[in-house]
Amino acid sequence: MVPRVSPGEVAARLPEAPPEEAEDLDRILDDYERLIEPNVTHWNHPGFLAYFAITGSGPGIVGEALAAALNVNAMLWKTSPAATELEERVCDWLRDMLGLPAFFSGHINDTASIGSLVALAAARHRAAPRARARGLAGAAPMTVYCSDQAHSSIDKALMTLGLGLDHLRHIGTDDAFRLDVDALRSAVEADLEAGLRPIAVVAVAGTTSSTSVDPIAAVADLAAEHGLWLHVDAAYAGSAAICPELRPLFAGWERADSIVVNPHKWLFTPIDCSVLLVRDPEQLKGTFSLVPEYLKTGEERVTNLMDLGVQLGRRFRALKLWMVIRAFGLRGLREAIRHHCALAAELAGRIDAHPEIERVAPVPFSTVCFRWTPPGTPEEQDAANELLLAEVNAAGPVHLSHTRLAGRFVLRVAIGNLRTEREHVDHAWRLVLEGTERLRAGG
Ligand code: PLP
Repeated sequence: MVPRVSPGEVAARLPEAPPEEAEDLDRILDDYERLIEPNVTHWNHPGFLAYFAITGSGPGIVGEALAAALNVNAMLWKTSPAATELEERVCDWLRDMLGLPAFFSGHINDTASIGSLVALAAARHRAAPRARARGLAGAAPMTVYCSDQAHSSIDKALMTLGLGLDHLRHIGTDDAFRLDVDALRSAVEADLEAGLRPIAVVAVAGTTSSTSVDPIAAVADLAAEHGLWLHVDAAYAGSAAICPELRPLFAGWERADSIVVNPHKWLFTPIDCSVLLVRDPEQLKGTFSLVPEYLKTGEERVTNLMDLGVQLGRRFRALKLWMVIRAFGLRGLREAIRHHCALAAELAGRIDAHPEIERVAPVPFSTVCFRWTPPGTPEEQDAANELLLAEVNAAGPVHLSHTRLAGRFVLRVAIGNLRTEREHVDHAWRLVLEGTERLRAGG
């Protein structure tokens, strides 16, 4: 699943120059089979339990292939009416599937990183509309808030938007890795006192390390009090809200200005497909719309997707999401997500019953974080867990990843692939147990 290649090994087998003459497609495909396919990391493998596991489902692959075959550029309604209108409809479907109010409307970006960037650009525009023309020079610095568990894409958005990393406040979290709202309030008040301009707060529903969920409703209260843009990053976990019993975890997200959810993470749609839902699309248009003569078309009251972000050219991503939703049906999608959560709960139970393996975070969804705690200092345990991770991944065919929580090295099992079954999670657990035995025995 993870190729045993060293850096540069694939490149060394590729010609340095392109062919002058046309090559036979059969030969190209032979090379693909020989050189490319064995040397990618197979995220579609059911034993892939690292990062946030994903799925290229059959219907999603068909949608992706048809989009490539059609090769439309959905920059304007006129340049592909069906691509534009399907994107709007499929985002409306997703919004309804998640139980969100009808005033949200969406569009599709490649990634959550771009969705959050676009949302924070809109937050900046709402707070300082003149910056669009004049830039930020001379104005009081604008500040943005998120927890110390938020994804690094938020940091990157501040870098990119010229707001500056120094103006992103990473607020502390509680023992379940959820944003501390009192600390958030203190930070906002301190910044106001210092003459800075708080403009936005990012709440995370499903953090990258532990899948913790910030207290979104309390964050929404504070955002309303101070006129902050509320962006909810639900890139991974948002899909779980299609299950009504999991929706309470997201309480308050209906008050957001923007929400990002990645069907390419946990809705069985091949990468890339990230939906940005916004309360008021006019805020995006005010931020981004700029129409040169050569892009003017006659229609009124149509959506031109280019108005909603930075990019002009746009892939027809809605097709694969439409196909996935239809081919699984809501019932099928819910069953898959529930199955993953059940597998994760089972694994959490085994960990909780083990005297020397500690679960280090709650398991609200399908990701389990744990740590082996053999006798020794916390630093020695960190080193032991690093070795354990290497042992498990070397044994395969499973692939786990790691993170740090409360400063300590922890292993993560993220269940999100449609084809992952109990046997794969059992196998990973067996490898963990065998790894601890081997390491205890001294190698
Ligand atoms: N937000 C969260 C909570 C994530 O976990 C991730 C990636 O895992 C991202 C954002 C970034 O996602 P993308 O790769 O779509 O930019």
